[in-house]
Amino acid sequence: MFIDSHAHLDTPHFDADRDAVITRAREAGVAAILTLGVDGASSQRAVALAQQYEGVFAAVGIHPHEAQHATPEDYKALMGLARAREANRIIAWGEIGLDYHYDHSPRDVQRREFRRQIRMARELDLPVCIHSRDAHDDVLTILDEEKAIDVGVVMHCFSGDEEVARRSLDLGFYISFAGPVTFTNARKLPAIVPLVPDDRLLIETDAPYLSPHPWRGREHRNEPARVAIIAARVAELKGVNTEAVGQLATENFKTLFKVPSTW
Ligand SMILES: [Zn+2]
Ligand SMILES: [Zn+2]
Repeated sequence: MFIDSHAHLDTPHFDADRDAVITRAREAGVAAILTLGVDGASSQRAVALAQQYEGVFAAVGIHPHEAQHATPEDYKALMGLARAREANRIIAWGEIGLDYHYDHSPRDVQRREFRRQIRMARELDLPVCIHSRDAHDDVLTILDEEKAIDVGVVMHCFSGDEEVARRSLDLGFYISFAGPVTFTNARKLPAIVPLVPDDRLLIETDAPYLSPHPWRGREHRNEPARVAIIAARVAELKGVNTEAVGQLATENFKTLFKVPSTW
């Protein structure tokens, strides 16, 4: 059994065959998929998908790329969705964070909207899903200052070095591995997997992005069924079997996101 702790099922990449994608995930043993919003509209779509498909859960939030476009109305709508979390099957706030690689929004705006959303998540008692690209110092500092640990934190698609991993773990965060851990040219990431304790490890696809090896390049679109490939690679690096990784990731998913058993 697996979980996919981070995907974007609402994107147009899946419009033609979304049912088949979700069926394939179930057939591959993926019991739960967290689909995340990146802006107001995609957060609404994430909720609609979670309501439509069993085993799909939603997160709402504004991605750092979109930070400069977020309006007070967007935040009001997201808060409204999250207050009715059970009806809307919302288990997290995200994805949020900082991206100094693309700089699609000015950095000061990214930081301001990041802090704002951590405070909202704390008010709602929802764990936060963190995007950090070439911005690890600021991300960890802000998460620490805003006491994000009170609600729970996962560093999604972890891309830091050993020191960033240790700091994240010291702060009490979960670390989630995605397709890059399978890449044949991955250099630093494989060494980080064994540093992550069993009770802090998560796996994800970030579908439709970041297809794992050997699909990278061949079939550009990624999908949740391929989280099994990530689990197999993580298992290999930990020296355990794939089922064990699937099992502990599933337990961690339930713990971090406090998934109600009635869902
Ligand atoms: Zn991301
Ligand atoms: Zn994402």
